[in-house]
Amino acid sequence: MQQNQCPAESPVLTGLTIRIVHDNCPFDDRLRMAWGFAATVTGPERTVLLDTGSEGALLLENMASMGIDPKGIDSVVLSHSHADHMGGLVGFLEVNPAVEVVLLESFPVRFKETVRGRGARVVEVESPRTICAHVHSTGRMGRRIHEQALVVRTEKGLVVLTGCAHPGADKIVEQVRALHKGDIVLVMGGFHLGWATDSRIERVIRTFKQLGVRYVAPTHCTGEKAQDLFAKHFGDRCLRVGVGKTITLADLK
Ligand SMILES: [Zn+2]
Ligand SMILES: [Zn+2]
Repeated sequence: MQQNQCPAESPVLTGLTIRIVHDNCPFDDRLRMAWGFAATVTGPERTVLLDTGSEGALLLENMASMGIDPKGIDSVVLSHSHADHMGGLVGFLEVNPAVEVVLLESFPVRFKETVRGRGARVVEVESPRTICAHVHSTGRMGRRIHEQALVVRTEKGLVVLTGCAHPGADKIVEQVRALHKGDIVLVMGGFHLGWATDSRIERVIRTFKQLGVRYVAPTHCTGEKAQDLFAKHFGDRCLRVGVGKTITLADLK
């Protein structure tokens, strides 16, 4: 397996801003909500949009409300090929086709053709790889539903961003632990525990704790019960997030 660890000599990233621009969980009621997830990542060498939510128009409207220029995005990373994560892409490409779209090899051929047809460059991921100096993909995970997660290396530690976490949020954190040196400071995104039993949720929380995850920011498909359990176990290190939320390194002590 190809492991693209960040070279030790590359400088540590001192500034990182994550903004949730599409989510079915509320935070800022000036923004519109819809099922799905999308977040922008600014600070690294490339400005990244992780997922696009289900609706392009809503995505663009929310980005405008938050003062984010879609033309400033360099890379769109799609975690997996579900409509609530890639449905907004075509609408986004109408405004900014000059991006690379980082998706998994196993995405539908027709979808890749559509992306190329809109003028974007398709980058296909299979094994773990570097997207830019401080941003990495876990590579394809999961058997039934293939998914990748993002890892950003910062001065505060590793920041992990998940789409739906279908392969298991615990498995994703284990994969990050195996691929990268350094502490995991934050895991944020959908944890896909909406229909999970208490014991499954507790197991995920235990793995997070054992692997030293400091902060969590569960949203999207995490489910209310799991969000409550994360809040119980992580206390004020469980960040309440939803559409319109901004997180910077200053929020991570
Ligand atoms: Zn999904
Ligand atoms: Zn989802």
